[in-house]
Amino acid sequence: MFKDAEELQAYVMETYPEVTDSRITKDHWDLRCSSCRVVRGFQVVRRQLSGNTVDTYGGLDFDKDGHAPVIYTFRCPVCETFKQWVLVEIAILHGNKYHTHYFKVTSLPNEGIEDIEELPVEPASLRIAYKQAIRAMDANANIAAAAMFRRAVQGTY
Ligand SMILES: [Zn+2]
Repeated sequence: MFKDAEELQAYVMETYPEVTDSRITKDHWDLRCSSCRVVRGFQVVRRQLSGNTVDTYGGLDFDKDGHAPVIYTFRCPVCETFKQWVLVEIAILHGNKYHTHYFKVTSLPNEGIEDIEELPVEPASLRIAYKQAIRAMDANANIAAAAMFRRAVQGTY
């Protein structure tokens, strides 16, 4: 729970990875295509604001959703596959100018699952242990995730 927008921003900055370096322009981001298996300029197909509420409920004046996540849909220009990232955009003052910083809350599909092709096929239980670790990480169950990654690495799954 957050008291105010500042608390929400601080939480986002502490918790999620910053992905600002991947942004080239408003319309292009350098991202990894798991189909082409390279990093290349993805097109921003859509930038969707989820916080543009026109009605507030119960007559309450609620203006603390100014930092609602934004959904980006990116498309690989070569194979045309797409993925979606849920980002929080935060304006940070540098000198006398605001710069927007981007923090990745989550992605569809999950990027860890996407990279699973890098793992050896045998033994099959390795991928299962890895997948479970990624899911635990997604649920912010980081201690459980660490235990499962360790098991995967040690081969004691
Ligand atoms: Zn591609």
